[in-house]
Amino acid sequence: MGVAAQCPVCGAPIQFRINTTLVAVCDSCDSVIARGDRTVEQIGKVADLVATRTPLELWLEGRYENVRFQVVGRAQLRHGKGGLWDEWYLAFDDGRWGWLAEAQGTFYLTFAVDGGGVPDYETMVPGCTISAGGGSFNVAERGEAEQVSAAGEIPYRLVPGSKFRFADLSGHDGAFATVDYGDGSEDPTTYVGREVTLADLGLHDAELRQNALAEVTAEAVSCPNCGGSLELAAPDQSQRVICPYCDTVLDADHGTLKKLKTLRRPKVEPKLPLGTTATFDRVHYKVIGFLQRSVKSWGVTYTWDEYLLYEPRSGYRWLVCNSGHWSFVEPVPVGEIKCAASGYQGAEAEDGERTYKIFTTGKPRIDYAVGEFYWHIFEGQRTHMIDYVNPPYMLSREEDDGEVNWSCGRYVTYDEVNGATDCPVARTPAAGVGANQPYPAKDIYVFWALAAALALLATLVVKAHQADHLAHDERFELTTHFNKDAAQVVFSKPFELKAHQNIIVRADSPVDNSWVYIEADLVNTETGAVAAFTLPIEYYHGYDWKEGARSKTRYLSAMSSGTYLLRMGIWRKNYFRKSYATIHVSQGKFRARYWLLLFLGISIIPIGVAIHHRKFEKRRWSESDYADDDDE
Ligand SMILES: [Zn+2]
Ligand SMILES: [Zn+2]
Repeated sequence: MGVAAQCPVCGAPIQFRINTTLVAVCDSCDSVIARGDRTVEQIGKVADLVATRTPLELWLEGRYENVRFQVVGRAQLRHGKGGLWDEWYLAFDDGRWGWLAEAQGTFYLTFAVDGGGVPDYETMVPGCTISAGGGSFNVAERGEAEQVSAAGEIPYRLVPGSKFRFADLSGHDGAFATVDYGDGSEDPTTYVGREVTLADLGLHDAELRQNALAEVTAEAVSCPNCGGSLELAAPDQSQRVICPYCDTVLDADHGTLKKLKTLRRPKVEPKLPLGTTATFDRVHYKVIGFLQRSVKSWGVTYTWDEYLLYEPRSGYRWLVCNSGHWSFVEPVPVGEIKCAASGYQGAEAEDGERTYKIFTTGKPRIDYAVGEFYWHIFEGQRTHMIDYVNPPYMLSREEDDGEVNWSCGRYVTYDEVNGATDCPVARTPAAGVGANQPYPAKDIYVFWALAAALALLATLVVKAHQADHLAHDERFELTTHFNKDAAQVVFSKPFELKAHQNIIVRADSPVDNSWVYIEADLVNTETGAVAAFTLPIEYYHGYDWKEGARSKTRYLSAMSSGTYLLRMGIWRKNYFRKSYATIHVSQGKFRARYWLLLFLGISIIPIGVAIHHRKFEKRRWSESDYADDDDE
């Protein structure tokens, strides 16, 4: 298959291997050749490809979701904000074309979908949610790019030097899409797909090359202004370098440095010098840049330090130090965040794992920068920033010139930072409560819940073991007599009591506006041990009131096991009338009061901690623009 032709410019042979190829780039003269019905036509000439640290090359074969493909074309595009990226064109055996974009070591594979219904470029506001190709996406970025260079076979009419507008969309779980608006003269084309690894594409040799490339350490270059030796850790991605020796801002284009301007400013010494290794989650990052940023709020300027970390396989991270409070910050794809609206009291953001409460908004300014950066950094640069917190995490949204970025910071202690770096870090005493500083004694709540659960369990076991059981039940006839001060003395029949179980004695008598008073001794018939107690019963009532009860219960402590009887002296108000009383002895009654006491005992310390915790939260939220009114 394929069509052979001749380059109309230099006469070299040109192959159109794929039926649906629209243009091919001549290997010999870099002319872009379009295939017509019968003839070929030159569209223009592309610049030489810039050597990048890509693990891919033309004509590699791979397999994605069980369909074989070949890498047949490549284009290099320049982002409107600077920086190049590569796009590779995959010809699949089933006739589809795959677009494989390579940016900062990450690959996104997309396929063209019917583009109907995507919003216009103007309404593609970063951060807003749109649907494309049947999925829901957040707009991450919109901008302009230029076709710079190309090679191989291309599935569209590539015009060298032409500019086009695009919007990048980020979805849930690695979903990715991009809308190509072209120059605006035609309908936009939407490409939908996802982030992929080289392994997903079955490009195993390329994967090995990618790993080998990651082992390549910094590229040594010298400052074109002062000649100082600089080590570029990410020569492929860095766009600006600020020389730490002469404070000159350099434009970095794939390792070639060009002087832009020299800054006049007092030096700031970073706590972590450039080149420091900082290990987080077992990845050895290098500190490649240092920033100082500040924001003004109600006339007060807040300043903090940010360190840009880089590792070729993992990419960029940040280490932030704000008033002695440190955070390790990782990027979060825009598509993972749910945030309906922001900037108002009570606003929340979700990242699929946690919900965060809005904390501050502001437009921080870069006051000082030194090192290597992946964007066109300048002092005085501002971004619009919103912070949301759920200690120990902080979710931050930064918006700048057509682009939204989200990141998640995790609070790290000074000791963790000092332990993670290969040089000692100067300690700044932490001031106040950090926005995402976790409450240190929070664990006590877990212990408290555990202890309470254990106490409850123990109580339930005791209750089950000490089932309430009847020891004795007896009725006594109360005879009439004529001396109100005389007691009727009665003895119960003997009954058995168990050891280690409390004893409950209840007396009932049908008194009515009257009383019965019983003085009782519980006597062990073998040892003579006695427990004395009284059982006053009184019950009065009128037309709409009543007082007392016809029953009285006493709880006695456990006694040793054995045979017992009750010896009782009974006085009555109505001694001249016949009546009766019943005595009911039981054992092992569960008493909620003991459980309650135990629970309160366990709770004293956590209650103190809770009060302290509330004060701690008040101090945290005193720094917020969005503190709840009832917290103030
Ligand atoms: Zn040619
Ligand atoms: Zn220099």
